[in-house]
Amino acid sequence: MTTNIQPHELFKGKPSAADQSLLLLALDASISGIIITDNHLPDNPIIYCNKAFEKMTGYAHEDIMGRNCRFLQGNDRDQSGRAVLRAAVEKGESVIVVLRNYKKDGTLFWNELYMSPVYEGGDGIRYFIGVQNDVTRRKQAEQEVMDQQAHLEERISERTRQLSENEEYLNSIIETVRESLLVLDHSLNVLGANRSFFRTFQVSAAETVGRKLYDLGDGQWDIPALSALLEQVLPTNNPVLDFEVEYNFPRIGRKQMLLNAYQVEHQGQYKDRILLAIEDITARKSAEQRKDEFLSIASHELKTPLTVIRGYQDLLLSFPEEEVSGRARTILEKAARSAERLNKLTSALLDVSRIQNGRMELQREPVLLDSIVSEAAELIAHATGGSHKITVEGRTDRLIEVDRERLLQVVSNLLSNAIKYSPGKTGVLIKLSQSENLVKCSITDQGIGIAAADQSLIFDRFFRASAHKQMFPGMGVGLYVCQQVIKAHQGTIWIEGSNAHGTTFSFTIPFKHS
Ligand code: ADP
Repeated sequence: MTTNIQPHELFKGKPSAADQSLLLLALDASISGIIITDNHLPDNPIIYCNKAFEKMTGYAHEDIMGRNCRFLQGNDRDQSGRAVLRAAVEKGESVIVVLRNYKKDGTLFWNELYMSPVYEGGDGIRYFIGVQNDVTRRKQAEQEVMDQQAHLEERISERTRQLSENEEYLNSIIETVRESLLVLDHSLNVLGANRSFFRTFQVSAAETVGRKLYDLGDGQWDIPALSALLEQVLPTNNPVLDFEVEYNFPRIGRKQMLLNAYQVEHQGQYKDRILLAIEDITARKSAEQRKDEFLSIASHELKTPLTVIRGYQDLLLSFPEEEVSGRARTILEKAARSAERLNKLTSALLDVSRIQNGRMELQREPVLLDSIVSEAAELIAHATGGSHKITVEGRTDRLIEVDRERLLQVVSNLLSNAIKYSPGKTGVLIKLSQSENLVKCSITDQGIGIAAADQSLIFDRFFRASAHKQMFPGMGVGLYVCQQVIKAHQGTIWIEGSNAHGTTFSFTIPFKHS
């Protein structure tokens, strides 16, 4: 069957009845709502609607017929689409608008309306055909996208605000710290500097930013050892730690500066930037120097009269019993013991000051570490009244070229600490061993241990673990002297292990193959 119908002929009765009903069936089968309004009747009423329109609006056929299609907008008249529609109707043009319409039960739906005029002869517009689609889903999706976008924008602006706040916060910290800070790029060009830098070196931003570190001032940072370290910071992420520079700086004179440099890390990511912190330590250094001088003078000045006192005490003690007898001899012995203790303390301070001034001289001679260890063990056992059993395990059979007295001092210090810091415990174990080119001595006690946080500081001059200060006498110089003596013998000393059940100190000394 062929149909050849012109739409404008539909209501003129030209197509056959069968054709007409086929057309109506086709319109009813459409999923778009379709209406026809009669422009010649007052208020342009609906004179046809298909099934999809009824379904879309929820109104029955008889509720729709004869009404202007604005009834679908209810009281929601203030819609820009309506003005567009009106203008097109007036001009007799086709138009597509999206309107907020309401179903019979009051539910909102978005109606995408395609309105097209039908002209008839010279009578102008006779009908309007409206094809409508419920685009609520699409609108909702659009709305969701818009909401998400708005939310995203809100989050971005919130994040931007936070970042700029963070940046301001960081900047304020950088500006307030007393250290001078420089930010360098991978070629060591200065990207930025803080206020303290300009103040400390009395330079301006123009003289600093954008220039190479080595060209600043009169080349004060152009130090080969420093360059070698700085150039490794980015490739290896190895920081430069406590690099001291003493220089006659332009404008501020001779100063000592302490440099530390790190790769800049932000939110767990390493950046292509170096943060160089420069601290003026001139005042601190000179205070330290004065302290060292005082220490040196005080220990020297104390040592001389002490030696005289000790001498006279020994002399008196060597007198026959009838001359120095009974109570007098006991008192004298007590005084001699205290004087001897004082003598040891002053010797330790003198050692520190000698080391500080680079005046520790070594009298090297070939000795067996084993004999030094036995002598120290005997001395300490005697001095501590045999409170702890000192056991020696293993042996070495290599002669080492060392200062016997100094090494005896090291082993004695370690042993007396092992005993001092293990009150009530009975054993101290010394282990001797040797490898290809080292002799090793380890001393293990059953004492109170050293807190993890203190272990890296234990060899520092005058450092004492805070947990021990109240309970045990001491000056915190013993381990410092041990470390310096071992270093002077090209050896190494370290805490091999420490916990609440005891501590092991070990040292090694290299020997030459004969
Ligand atoms: P001193 O014993 O005079 O304080 P040292 O330099 O010999 O000084 O030791 C430094 C610090 O190390 C001590 O104050 C103590 O806190 C800790 N220490 C040293 N040896 C031991 C040890 N065997 N067990 C526990 N702590 C120790």
